[in-house]
Amino acid sequence: MRYLVTGGAGFIGSHLVEALAARGDQVLVLDDLSTGERRNVEHLLPSGSVELVEGSIMDAALTDDCVQRVDACFHLASAVGVQLVVSRPLDTLLCNVRGTDNVISAAARHGRRLLYTSTSEVYGKNSAGSLSEDSDRILGSPFKARWGYAIAKAFGEALSHSYSRETGAEIVVARLFNTVGPRQKGAYGMVLPRFVQQALAGDDLTVYGNGTQSRCFIHVADTLHALLLLVESDEALGNVYNVGSSMEVPIIELAARVIERTGSGSRVQLVAYEDAYGEGFEELGRRKPDTTELERLTGWQPSRSLDETIDDVIAYTRGDADAPSARVEIAS
Ligand code: UDP
Repeated sequence: MRYLVTGGAGFIGSHLVEALAARGDQVLVLDDLSTGERRNVEHLLPSGSVELVEGSIMDAALTDDCVQRVDACFHLASAVGVQLVVSRPLDTLLCNVRGTDNVISAAARHGRRLLYTSTSEVYGKNSAGSLSEDSDRILGSPFKARWGYAIAKAFGEALSHSYSRETGAEIVVARLFNTVGPRQKGAYGMVLPRFVQQALAGDDLTVYGNGTQSRCFIHVADTLHALLLLVESDEALGNVYNVGSSMEVPIIELAARVIERTGSGSRVQLVAYEDAYGEGFEELGRRKPDTTELERLTGWQPSRSLDETIDDVIAYTRGDADAPSARVEIAS
C-alpha cells in the first residue's frame, strides 16, 4: 500500500511512518516542519520507501497532488499542544480549518480512504467521567484560544462525517486522549516530556493548578496500533472512535512518579494556570475516554503501563546509548 501521512515528521506521525515502512508499505510524508522535525524521519529516507515532501496542507494544489499519489491517507498535521494553541490562535484556526478542508476534500474527490486524527479537546470542559463518542461537548467562549482549537478540530470531525454521509467518502475519525512517548516535545506544553526534562535537569517540576486534575496517558505504540486497526476496518468508516487509556492519574501523582523513576532530587512547584497560560485560561478537572466502541470493533487493548511509558520517555530524554531507541514496537 502507498500511504500519505500529513504531519508525518511529528511525534505521532513519525512513529506511524516508521511502522508503515517497517511492514513494507510506501509512505509519502507531507510536513511543513513547523512543529515536526526532519530528523524524526531522515533515517527512513535512504531506504526509498519513505519520501518527505516539505510543504503545508494549506497549499491546496500540493495537498491534492500528494493525495492523488497514494492509496490511503492519515491526516495528522495540526497545531498541537495547549501552550502552542493559546500563543498562536490564528495559525491554529486557519491550519486546522483550511488545511483540514484541503486534505479531506482531496481524499473525497480522489476516492482515497482517510483517517483523521481529532482530539479529546473537542469535549471541552466535560469532566463527567468516562466520555463516550456521543458525550456532550461543553465549551467556553470561542474568544478563548483553547476553545477555538476545540472548534477547529470539531470542524474537521463534522466535515469528515458530512463527506462520509453525503458522498460515501471512506473516512474514519480517531479522537486521541493524551498520547505520550519518545519524541514528544515539552515545548508546546505537554506535561510528561516537560516533567521528565525538569526532573533530569534537577529543576522543580511545574505542576499547574493544585495538581488534582487528572488525565489518562497512553503510550504512542498503543495509539498507533489503534490507528492501523481503524484504517483497515470497513465497519469503522463514517464513525468516530475514542483512543486512549482508562487509567487515570492526578497530575501531582504523575510528578511524584517521574521524580521517583528518574531518581531525581527535584521538587514540585505549584504554578497558577494564569501564570502558565495567561489570563482567563480554563482548565478541566479530568478527561477519561470510554473506548468500548474501539474495543468491540477491533479487540484493541492498551499494552503498556504508565510506569513503562514514563520509563520509555526517560530513556529517550536521557539519550542513553543502551536505552530502547526512539523507535517503538507496535503492540499486536
Ligand atoms: N501540566 C502541568 N505542568 C506542565 C504542563 C502541563 O501541570 O508543565 C498539566 C496541565 O495543566 C494539564 C495536564 O498537565 O492539567 C496535562 O497537560 P497537557 O498539556 O499535557 O494535556 P491536556 O491538558 O491537553 O490534556
